[in-house]
Amino acid sequence: MTVRVRIAPSPTGNLHIGTARTAVFNWLFARNQGGTFVLRIEDTDEARSRPEYTDNIMSGLAWLGIDWDEGPFFQTQRLEFYQKAIQTLLDKGLAYSCYCTTEELEQMREIQKANKQAPRYDNRHRNLTQEEKQAFEKEGRKPVIRFKIEDEQEIVWNDLIRGKVSWKGSDLGGDMVIARRDETGNAPFGQVLYNLAVVVDDIDMNITHVIRGEDHIANTAKQILLYQGLGVSVPHFAHTPLILNQEGRKLSKRDGVTSIDDFREMGFLPSALGNYMSLLGWTPPDATAEIFTLKEASQTFSLERVNKAGAKFDWDKLDWINSQYLHKMEINELLSLLIPFWKKAGISVDLEKDKIWLESLTTMIAPSLTRLTDCVKESRLIFGETATYNEEALKQLKQEGVKEVLSSILEGLKGKTHLTHDDAQALINEVTKAQNVKKGVVMRSLRAGLMGELKGPDLTQSWLLLHEKGWDQSRLENALKLI
Ligand code: GLU
Repeated sequence: MTVRVRIAPSPTGNLHIGTARTAVFNWLFARNQGGTFVLRIEDTDEARSRPEYTDNIMSGLAWLGIDWDEGPFFQTQRLEFYQKAIQTLLDKGLAYSCYCTTEELEQMREIQKANKQAPRYDNRHRNLTQEEKQAFEKEGRKPVIRFKIEDEQEIVWNDLIRGKVSWKGSDLGGDMVIARRDETGNAPFGQVLYNLAVVVDDIDMNITHVIRGEDHIANTAKQILLYQGLGVSVPHFAHTPLILNQEGRKLSKRDGVTSIDDFREMGFLPSALGNYMSLLGWTPPDATAEIFTLKEASQTFSLERVNKAGAKFDWDKLDWINSQYLHKMEINELLSLLIPFWKKAGISVDLEKDKIWLESLTTMIAPSLTRLTDCVKESRLIFGETATYNEEALKQLKQEGVKEVLSSILEGLKGKTHLTHDDAQALINEVTKAQNVKKGVVMRSLRAGLMGELKGPDLTQSWLLLHEKGWDQSRLENALKLI
């Protein structure tokens, strides 16, 4: 059997982390099995679907490095196939027209609610006579199409992640709507609904394994009945665990992120995010090796090693993985990724003019980066922003002898257009000796004067970068005014 899997997002929003993770698992499985990965856009809900969401979904998948072998297929271009399938079900007597009005259905629910029963359709139009149908049509009622679901049955499948799953027919809410009523007045029925369309597509596209979120389990039970009704064999199903927040609830907008764009803007790398998403529910055979590309993961991926339990989203872990990638990245590549974040923060960057300076800056701050966005706070002062002096720095500056230390550094800098690492060291040593203080005092004072704080990236390197822009002397002069 050649494995064929798919991701079937609805373009009703930007690429969501849950969809992206489902895509990752499908992709890993397809690549592991030498199978085919299909992209299908489920855009039958015309009111909510937008082309820009389709673009966002496709560019998000591409950004993550998830390539598809077939598609994108669009459901709106396949309507005739759904209509045909509905006709087949009608012809077989497995589906029928239901003429209930919204008011009638509402009334039915009210009564069920009052009797403390779960809401369901009571199958009242299942066996209408020809005369009854005609009478409804005459009234101007338009039917929806319902697929028959027998209460007295058990739907069982061997889920490749959850093992045996069984669902009672009576828990599926009665005969289900597979097509809405026609609003145009010239078709027997209107918009085809998800469960029917997805089954027709999965049949036509020869999907062998349906891997999707656990929130679709009840749909799977309904869909199995549709496969049987259409007289075709049922694919394998695998339901992946939900992504949960720290409180154990489904990760949502309230957690500050939903779409892949959010993660991109927060400064995560696609490689790190893909790596982390594959760990959201899957345990690699070597659980200690946590840093890998999707391609590497595909070599050992199996559905047996996907957990049933919900996967908690762990920001610290994602940050850690991101930092591992950032710290190992080639400097020029990192620099090109940092530039947009600097620009977004209003820092003007001229790569042509300042290439070497920017490379040195990137090399200096790289070990301190957890997210790409950190480059802004790590380099603001190097880019010449006015330093604000924190309490610790002010205290250092006000110590006895510091005024003289900084003044003699300024003196030593006079006329020096270019400052090398050795020049800087020599000047520090010179001042240490001349002022008869400890070297640590000179270093701390210099850091306080140049950066306004006592912690930060490599001092000499920061100084050299500031010097090249001519900002070190003015900083030290300003610091002297505070003493
Ligand atoms: N359009 C559905 C969704 O986005 C697809 C579910 C499925 O994979 O069958 O949830």
